[in-house]
Amino acid sequence: MASLSLRHIYKVYSGGVRAVSDFNLEIDDKEFIVFVGPSGCGKSTTLRMIAGLEDISSGELYIDDRLVNDVEPKDRDIAMVFQNYALYPHMTVYDNMAFGLRLRHVPAKVIDEKVQEAASILGIQHLLSRRPKALSGGQRQRVALGRAIVREPKVFLLDEPLSNLDAKLRVQMRTEITKIHHRLATTFIYVTHDQTEAMTMGTRIVVMKDGIVQQVDTPTTLYDNPANLFVACFLGSPQMNIFKAKLVEENGNIYALIGETNKVMIPKSRAQRILDKSVVGSDVLLGIRPEDVRYEQALIDAHPESVIESTVDVIENLGNETILYLNVEGKDDYTIARVNARYSFEQGETLKMYLATEHAHLFDATTELTLMGVPDYNLIPAQAVAVDDTLAVMFGDVCVKLPEGLLNRITDKSIINNKVMLAIPPAALKAEEAEGDVCIEGVAEFFDNYPRFKAVYLSVPGLVNNIIAARPLDYEFMGGVSLKVYLDPSQIQLFNMDGERIIADRTVSGNTTTGTILNNNGVYNYKFVGATGSKNKLSLEGQTGIATAENDTPMYILPRGLAIDKESLAQTPKMVLSGVIKHLDEYHKDAIVTAEVPGFDEDMTVIIRNFSGYNTGDKIKMAVNPQAVVTGKYETFAEAVKKQEAQEEGAVRYKELTQAREKEKAIEQASAAAANETVAVAEKSAKKAAPAKKPAPAKKTTAVKRPTAKKK
Ligand code: ADP
Repeated sequence: MASLSLRHIYKVYSGGVRAVSDFNLEIDDKEFIVFVGPSGCGKSTTLRMIAGLEDISSGELYIDDRLVNDVEPKDRDIAMVFQNYALYPHMTVYDNMAFGLRLRHVPAKVIDEKVQEAASILGIQHLLSRRPKALSGGQRQRVALGRAIVREPKVFLLDEPLSNLDAKLRVQMRTEITKIHHRLATTFIYVTHDQTEAMTMGTRIVVMKDGIVQQVDTPTTLYDNPANLFVACFLGSPQMNIFKAKLVEENGNIYALIGETNKVMIPKSRAQRILDKSVVGSDVLLGIRPEDVRYEQALIDAHPESVIESTVDVIENLGNETILYLNVEGKDDYTIARVNARYSFEQGETLKMYLATEHAHLFDATTELTLMGVPDYNLIPAQAVAVDDTLAVMFGDVCVKLPEGLLNRITDKSIINNKVMLAIPPAALKAEEAEGDVCIEGVAEFFDNYPRFKAVYLSVPGLVNNIIAARPLDYEFMGGVSLKVYLDPSQIQLFNMDGERIIADRTVSGNTTTGTILNNNGVYNYKFVGATGSKNKLSLEGQTGIATAENDTPMYILPRGLAIDKESLAQTPKMVLSGVIKHLDEYHKDAIVTAEVPGFDEDMTVIIRNFSGYNTGDKIKMAVNPQAVVTGKYETFAEAVKKQEAQEEGAVRYKELTQAREKEKAIEQASAAAANETVAVAEKSAKKAAPAKKPAPAKKTTAVKRPTAKKK
């Protein structure tokens, strides 16, 4: 029995193949985790790193809270079963199973008990005296499992154990392994490229592609709420139909236009799950599973607004069901329908089909990420205001004042007194208030159940999009009532208006140094001496308009002034700094890189978009944009905020809002106290308390009584 924790695990093979990138996963005791993905996506590598058969390039692996990166495979208390289970041909089944225990000098009596017990779990008692060559494939696979079971490991690792078996046996062994998992009640990690195995066996599935985890969730959630197009198409057979479509709004309803002629409505129940309403009017990818392409006349009559025209091209009658391959105007490949086998169809026949759009999926046409479901962050357009020596982020009548410690982790000073996107993880919107929290009030609209939490959608006055708060699964949802959620300001992230994440997980270095720029007949020589005395230099030909610095003046290089792409490096080959990566802070394709570079006071901070292929400890070459070399003293974010504050009028609004809040809170507390006496008195004082601009529904919460929010 064991839990595992994989934290920022990377694997780079010698030769530079990055097989696994930033793999993060918490595995609970007794879980059956399946790693699934196409061949070469890094599943086996990850499993082998857990087993200790492969070094971890960076990151940490814990088994039961013990760091095991450097622990020998034999001391990790795990057992691995491979695709090519090499049984010893000259030994009986019994001896094959007993062999490992004998090596460990386990007493014969104990060995016998364990082998007999494993054999009974696997149903192979009658085979114990046979040699492997007298066994069928399935029987051999059982013996291989038996060898693992007798060791009573904390964790079972299985690498495509069924892929050498024929189809029928695979199905049978699938259920047997599931039963063994129940019986042994221990942690299983299972690698397969077969989506059916993943769906049927896993308590949770990790879907991987190109060494990167795409989504981790239960089979049902992955099927119903895929995070991106890849996951949507990888799971499910036949795979999901993807239509290029344009979303439009007509009379308050949202429709998807497919090609020139087809138009289907996305019912409200589904449309309200669209996270960003601004996608209406743009091109999207509409996903409909084959079982949601329906041909029944009653459904077509009941949903005339979601019917498309099609022509039958290929009919596959599988006995229990029929798969239709349909041509639909506006879709290049087939539209696949899975229909009842009792109906008959003719090739060339034109058919109306109802698309069950209450189960529709929508994906961004460019990023291929889902437009529905629960995002990493609630993204809220806001204003960043310099106030009280820090930064406050405001939207509607909500002010989030950033803790001071966070200021110098912000990478972009241009947001000060400017627009910014406030990014709040759904789990950071809590039900209970703690000291220093910010309150956000909205109306509870609806919810979706995810395996580990309930996603509660709130409409907040002044915001176009709903925001999502994660609640425990037993949370009692009440629709239509006003709800308060609480945010610890240290939990937020910010994005600038270019979509870059701008709060790093470490203090941002100013990339400061002491330097000199010399102009030798059009060749600029930059010389740097860092605080530790280490030196570096750069050289640039034929650039005009560069200031010449005095000897030994403070200088710095802007974090965005360094590039790692081939073109930039080739363009100014002598304006290149080399360093070693100390820390990587990656989000999707953006990275904030911390690198040790000679000539600088401390490790440099470098912001790179479209970053991939590097690892902590790697050498990195960075082309310096000459315009990004600035002479003079570097101003930290905190200093910039302080300087800006005096000039800012937004600060006035901030003060108004916070004062109003405080007053309201004081009265709220008074009214809560009064509630003990009589409800009537409490209501009256709450009414008096609320400032005029407060949205009407928000007031109800106080009356409804907040503590509905949490657990049993
Ligand atoms: P999967 O199990 O998903 O099929 P693997 O984990 O075996 O994928 O491989 C992931 C990637 O790492 C592939 O690109 C593969 O070619 C590469 N790879 C695997 N083993 C090695 C190795 N020993 N040396 C170099 N590259 C390797």
